[in-house]
Amino acid sequence: MIPYEVEYVRASSVQDALSLLSGDADAKILAGGHSLVPMMKLRLARPSFLVDIGRLPELRGVEVHPDYISIGSATTHAELAADSQLTALAPLFALVAHVIADPAVRNRGTIGGSLVNADPSADWPAAVLALEAVMEVVGAKGTRRVPAREFFVGFMASAVQSDEILTRIHIPLPAAVRVGYRKFRHPSSGYAVAAAAVALRFTGDKCVGGTIGITGVADTPFRAYAAETLLGEGLGGGQDGIERIATAAFDGVAPLEDSFADAGYRLQLGRVMLKRALADACAGNREGMTCSET
Ligand SMILES: Cc1cc2nc3c(=O)[nH]c(=O)nc-3n(C[C@H](O)[C@H](O)[C@H](O)COP(=O)(O)OP(=O)(O)OC[C@H]3O[C@@H](n4cnc5c(N)ncnc54)[C@H](O)[C@@H]3O)c2cc1C
Repeated sequence: MIPYEVEYVRASSVQDALSLLSGDADAKILAGGHSLVPMMKLRLARPSFLVDIGRLPELRGVEVHPDYISIGSATTHAELAADSQLTALAPLFALVAHVIADPAVRNRGTIGGSLVNADPSADWPAAVLALEAVMEVVGAKGTRRVPAREFFVGFMASAVQSDEILTRIHIPLPAAVRVGYRKFRHPSSGYAVAAAAVALRFTGDKCVGGTIGITGVADTPFRAYAAETLLGEGLGGGQDGIERIATAAFDGVAPLEDSFADAGYRLQLGRVMLKRALADACAGNREGMTCSET
């Protein structure tokens, strides 16, 4: 593959990046480059100017506040997997970070790049949906906050405009509910063919509600609201109750289809991944930390 010529600038701050973006309609933000550069090689993206924000200290790392965690958008998957404070407060992050691709991708790819890219098979969207994260987006007109449920607006489309930057991801605390993440990994790419993230609230031994984020199955990651309304009753209702939740989660969903998984198979994988994620969460199952696909 022969690369084309492209200008590259490493921004000195978020403000610098914004002014560089505003000066060129074909400019694009570069973070880890693990989605954008492959798309450029295939000519699926053709920016004339790359504005690198990947090393900006203001966009890196995890901050813990009394009622929320704030994650810089340029924090890599590997840094999130290794952050012990984040794992203790919001264990879903470690579950998800560990199963993204391979070490090479985890060491360069960033959570912000993954969320803005909004690949329907990416892992982070399921987690931020289930944790009801809020995205901080900065542009020429100032800062706005976008809840995760409004962030994924279509196939590979997020709420971040081309002249804006996702700066931080806020996770409300307490997020230390019981969680689970199960993913059926595509054998060649590692992306999710179907995956489910769950965050359950318990009073004693009884589930009193929770949230479910699904990725891989449809053209946009989504919250399974209908299934969420059944969680309290369904999880107390044995196998039938769990089946009702899994069925409701995919009712009316138009599944993606490709040469690896047709519509019916993908829906079935989605239901199975959700049931396993729910079982992990109910059991407080730290085995889920290894997040096997089986
Ligand atoms: C071989 C391989 C396997 C992979 N497997 C998986 C997998 O199993 N699961 C998974 O979830 N992902 C997977 N990925 C994708 C990987 O996680 C990417 O790193 C990630 O999707 C994009 O992050 P990035 O930092 O590399 O973004 P980049 O490639 O730099 O950018 C991606 C897009 O987001 C925009 N952007 C980036 N950051 C910002 C920001 N802060 N504000 C505004 N716009 C921004 C860019 O302009 C670009 O359009 C895989 C990638 C590869 C190459």
